[in-house]
Amino acid sequence: MKGSVLYGPRNIRFEERAAPTIIKPTDAIIRISATCVCGSDLWPYRGINVVTQPTPMGHEYCGIVEEIGSAVTSIKRGQFVIGSFFASDNTCPNCRAGYQSSCWHAELVGGAQAPLLRVPLADGTLVAIPDVPSDDLIPSLLALSDVMGTGWFAADAANVKPGKTVAVVGDGAVGLLGVLSAKQMGAGRIIAMSRHESRQKLAREFGATDIVTERGDEGVARIKELTDGIGADSVLECVGTPESMMQAIRSTRRGGYLGYVGVPHGVELKGEELFYAHIHLHGGPAPVRRYLPELIGLVWNGNINPGKVFDLTLPLSDVAEGYKAMDERRAIKTLLRV
Ligand SMILES: [Zn+2]
Repeated sequence: MKGSVLYGPRNIRFEERAAPTIIKPTDAIIRISATCVCGSDLWPYRGINVVTQPTPMGHEYCGIVEEIGSAVTSIKRGQFVIGSFFASDNTCPNCRAGYQSSCWHAELVGGAQAPLLRVPLADGTLVAIPDVPSDDLIPSLLALSDVMGTGWFAADAANVKPGKTVAVVGDGAVGLLGVLSAKQMGAGRIIAMSRHESRQKLAREFGATDIVTERGDEGVARIKELTDGIGADSVLECVGTPESMMQAIRSTRRGGYLGYVGVPHGVELKGEELFYAHIHLHGGPAPVRRYLPELIGLVWNGNINPGKVFDLTLPLSDVAEGYKAMDERRAIKTLLRV
């Protein structure tokens, strides 16, 4: 089979790879219906995280179960399934607490930009949907595999409640879906921080009531201005840079909540500023598995359409262009048809 392989900075190829096989009896092999490029794939693509060997890419997936290991009991061949980028047993104490991305037996799922994918711990990781979906539902179902679940976790960790004021730092796909999540959770006011017109437009479509184009301290000042000097009740940090994290902390009201899901790159926090900020901090790798049943229901019933973040659809063979378009910010998120 042919899939994507990253060789080094901005050097991604579509080339022959060995098809995955069942390695452990708890594995399943999925025939991928669609996959995509994640914002976090851009870190190694740009050489900020260095790959030391040719690396198969991709960790967002949905598709049909092709084969199961001998110990798999709940997942069946032929089912349409979605799973998270962290495989989890869904039975250990961390999983039972709802933190499947910290599963005692967590394994990263990789190499999803390909026709076939091995998923470890299939019973715990995969969630089957009621029926094989129509084509138009695939983008939204695929989004649940990571980006939507991550935006939802950001909003959940930021304690978004009906009527509350929410600020979202970051206008990438996760930030935009953080806006959608906050709307779905009943936020009264949603301030999206973005300086890109196409992203502002989608943010408004997803429920943003205000747009702030300023960044850093000016962005903080603007949030304060919009909230009578108080700050936002809930802030979602969806970038992971020192600037965005400080902007998020300083935009949160005293006693407010900050949900942070941007993978930190160079973020170092000063204890004293945190101490006096008087805020709740909750974040980390999103336990997407916890939210899958609920989010599948919302997509299945037409309540949410997170697939709108895919503004570029390419065949998998054009994966290099898919990365390039996102790297150059010509695309918010690239869907790859297999
Ligand atoms: Zn576990």
